[in-house]
Amino acid sequence: MQSFDAVDPATGKVFAQVHEADDVLVGRAVNAARRALDRGWADTPVQERVALLRRAADGIERRFEDFVAAEVRDTGKPVTQARNLDVARAVLNFRTFADIVAAAGEEAYLTDLSGGRQALNYTVRKPLGVVAVIVPWNLPLLLLTWKIAPALACGNAVVVKPSEETPSTASLLAEVLAEAGAPKGVYNVVHGFGSGSAGQYLTQHHGIDGVTFTGSSDTGAHVMRAVAPRVRPVSFELGGKNAAIVFDDVDVDDALDGLSRSVFTNTGQVCLCTERVYVQRRIFDDIADGLVRRAQALRLSDPWSDDTTTGPLISEKHRHKVLDYLTVAEEAGATVITGGGVPTMGALSGGWWIEPTLWTGLTNKDRAAREEIFGPVAALIPFDTTEEAVTLANDTDYGLAASVWTNDLRRGHDVAQRMRTGISWVNTWFTRELRSPFGGVGLSGIGREGGEHSLHFYTEPTNVCVQL
Ligand code: NAD
Repeated sequence: MQSFDAVDPATGKVFAQVHEADDVLVGRAVNAARRALDRGWADTPVQERVALLRRAADGIERRFEDFVAAEVRDTGKPVTQARNLDVARAVLNFRTFADIVAAAGEEAYLTDLSGGRQALNYTVRKPLGVVAVIVPWNLPLLLLTWKIAPALACGNAVVVKPSEETPSTASLLAEVLAEAGAPKGVYNVVHGFGSGSAGQYLTQHHGIDGVTFTGSSDTGAHVMRAVAPRVRPVSFELGGKNAAIVFDDVDVDDALDGLSRSVFTNTGQVCLCTERVYVQRRIFDDIADGLVRRAQALRLSDPWSDDTTTGPLISEKHRHKVLDYLTVAEEAGATVITGGGVPTMGALSGGWWIEPTLWTGLTNKDRAAREEIFGPVAALIPFDTTEEAVTLANDTDYGLAASVWTNDLRRGHDVAQRMRTGISWVNTWFTRELRSPFGGVGLSGIGREGGEHSLHFYTEPTNVCVQL
């Protein structure tokens, strides 16, 4: 069997070899999932499936530090973030979807018929079947469990393809699910790349009943083409080029705290991160200076140290991409107000480090302000009126998230509702309610997951009509 390197992004050193699944192995995983459904998993009482999710959450908690260690080694992200965000949210994903599925009801309608009789219509939700789950590297365990938890609770069997950059936690989760009592074949993991590898073999396999995918918009388009001949449903959580709008009535310090989190969290590698900051002209310099100060106060250092705030980018290839955009921005006439290159990292200089970078002088016409970069970078652009800000923020092919910063709540509601995005925040960023719909418009995705919206994707409703 072929294998590939697992590389620590903080040092650039290889720390493991990962087996790459070929088409035969992918086929075996899909068949194992099908057999698990046929052996009764699809008909298991909801309470039993929900109990499995709760035991999985307990199992992650018991091995919490193993998951943290695996996530830090795969991604180079700061250990405090892995603990407080990535692994904590994985536990919460299982518990929240256990509650949601346990409480979910069904539709029922009484229909009046001629002659005074009635018919009872009710809906039975059946599992979708074998679900292919393909996820990226930025929040590997968080994004995987966001899909696995509702999929399993609804009675599906899954074949998971984690990113080639971050293989560890998906395999660790297999151990936890087995210990928690998941029947054989309900949760399968295949490792590998996209085209010509496990990702392509999985999406083209005739045995899958649907694909839930998180990743870039380009890959989403590939996946859509791959499933088109067999007309399978897709749920797509794709890229973004998210805007923040900062009005001049705002508490500048509060806004700066939120804005700097929204630009720099996870080294800018969150689909929800802000890469365009529109600032009302009167406070443009205050916001620019404040963001520069916050960028310069970030601690890029050993991910295992508790006071590190910022890790490296995920890979050499990704750093090339971000560095290319630094050149693109400068060629378009951007002024670099902080960062703009590769930092000196001493013992960690073999890793894929990059300086948090802010630009002024760009407009919406420039590529660096239009294309998703997925790094710790943002363009600061001034505006004068609310109408102008709304137009600028919505001037994008993406439509994932936006944030509005203002002390005028009426304006906050108004502007947030006018954002052409799946999610709009007012005076906050990345505050998540797992029961609410999550997804994007335009290039940012198809469909919504979260709460009952996840149940819509992971089940097929059958309407039964009984004449009374
Ligand atoms: P990517 O699209 O390169 O890869 C995502 C996954 O798809 C990986 O597992 C990869 O191996 C697989 N893949 C690649 N080509 C494939 C193919 N042809 N067929 C099947 N599978 C294939 O994305 P990435 O670089 O891993 O992640 C970053 C992207 O993900 C960014 O665009 C980011 O905005 C997006 N993202 C979106 C969300 C969201 O919720 N909307 C969340 C996180 C990340």
